[in-house]
Amino acid sequence: MKLKKNDIVTVMKGKDKGKTEKIEKVFTKEGKVLITGVNQFKRHIKGRAGGQKSEITIITKPVSVANVKLVCPKCKKLTRVGYLVQKTGKVRICKKCKKEI
Ligand SMILES: [Zn+2]
Repeated sequence: MKLKKNDIVTVMKGKDKGKTEKIEKVFTKEGKVLITGVNQFKRHIKGRAGGQKSEITIITKPVSVANVKLVCPKCKKLTRVGYLVQKTGKVRICKKCKKEI
């Protein structure tokens, strides 16, 4: 998984196309990320008999990493992630400005 929690990404597809938000959670196995305020759905919870009020809850569903692009924190451009192997280990770099991100 190339994206990490707290990365800033732009949504490229779907109803939230164009939104730029932070990744809240990464689901490595599924290849999905949960992004603040993106892919939200309203769920209506019916009140039970007995006077309980029904309510609407907003749930956020994860989106596929294929539908988002990373915004480089250094050059602020939409970019892809590359890796550079150094003595200390692998570092993530921006393919545009080549800086470590
Ligand atoms: Zn960059």
